[in-house]
Amino acid sequence: VKINEKYRMTNQRQVILEEIQKVRTHPTADEIYQMVRRRIPNISLGTVYRNLEILHECGLIKKLELGRSQKRFDGYIDEHYHIRCMQCGKVGDLAMDVSHLLDQASMSGSDFKILDHRLEFLGICAECQLKKVEKTH
Ligand SMILES: [Zn+2]
Ligand SMILES: [Zn+2]
Repeated sequence: VKINEKYRMTNQRQVILEEIQKVRTHPTADEIYQMVRRRIPNISLGTVYRNLEILHECGLIKKLELGRSQKRFDGYIDEHYHIRCMQCGKVGDLAMDVSHLLDQASMSGSDFKILDHRLEFLGICAECQLKKVEKTH
């Protein structure tokens, strides 16, 4: 099966894609490698990296490059915003519509034709909020 003009869907690629689509935790390449290794024990980290780039190039997964932390991958490719915990670094999906009003509004502030925007919300996740409470008692 061909994914696009350049690439075929190989078994390795299929397994990597399935593993990413199983979770909503936005795993890093290392985490995906650990997940995939349970199904393909002899796969290398380099192969996982290469296939992640190909799956991204084909539009089958998203790459999260916000902030200075490690790149994360997302199997949920509909438009959505992310929220990152400033304490533990966990990245979640935000149940909020993506605002194209922002794109329109930004055009009045520059001579660019704005096509898209990247926005990340920062906060403290529920687990870390609990930890803080425990510490103060
Ligand atoms: Zn947290
Ligand atoms: Zn996401």
